[in-house]
Amino acid sequence: MARRKKIYEGKAKTLYEGPEPGTIVQYFKDDATAFNAEKRAVIEGKGVLNNLLSEYFMLGLSNLGIPNHFLKRLNMREQLVRACEIVPLEIIVRNYAAGTMAKRLGIDEGTQLPRPIVEYCLKDDKLGDPLVTEEHIAAFGWASQQDMDDILSLALRVNDFLSGVMYGVGIRLVDFKIEIGRVYEGDFQRLIVADEISPDSCRLWDIETGRKLDKDVFRRDLGDLSDAYTEVARRLGVLPRSGNAVPGPKLVQ
Ligand code: C5P
Repeated sequence: MARRKKIYEGKAKTLYEGPEPGTIVQYFKDDATAFNAEKRAVIEGKGVLNNLLSEYFMLGLSNLGIPNHFLKRLNMREQLVRACEIVPLEIIVRNYAAGTMAKRLGIDEGTQLPRPIVEYCLKDDKLGDPLVTEEHIAAFGWASQQDMDDILSLALRVNDFLSGVMYGVGIRLVDFKIEIGRVYEGDFQRLIVADEISPDSCRLWDIETGRKLDKDVFRRDLGDLSDAYTEVARRLGVLPRSGNAVPGPKLVQ
């Protein structure tokens, strides 16, 4: 059997060359890391849950016409995605103060922000993904002004979609991170949502109890991470009952 070509191994995912040009197989690992990989563990089943959840969210984005890299799920740990050139920025959208923003600005965690706030961090593990401004981004050429307009619009659309879907199952979307990819179509480039959307990259709090259902459970030793992610998947109806069909987001009338 021919060995497939590994393109990149990250902290939580491995990318392999896809079956056709312009495609990539994204494999979700069970590895959990935090604080720039200073804290590590293997959480059995995490990769499966994130694969299913990312599929669910990306399909939801596609239904709204929000361009993203997802093509199809291949099995419980792998999905086929469009190859793209990742913009070297982490795009963070915050609805409530938490994490580094709460600490940096001295705001109590859980305080509702006056409006969604978008932040940009440079994707650079060696530097610990530092916060950067649009001035840095323009001056160092990481993205053009047109790219930044498109990225802001994508980020806010994803926020509206995700906030609504999570609210529908009693979960508050506190904040999340997305990554953006460039794809080229003839002479044109287009920006699409890439990487993953999962409880690894979002803060999700139960609206009634405040229980954390995201990677903070691991970062802050709050209990079983797999239980928390399973709860999110269960509420969204993502866990397969039989077979492996994943229902898409439903509009509740
Ligand atoms: O740590 P911080 O408060 O800046 O994180 C904001 C949001 O971005 C959180 O939902 C966190 O999970 C996500 N994030 C991420 N990957 C990073 C940094 C933050 O998914 N490297």
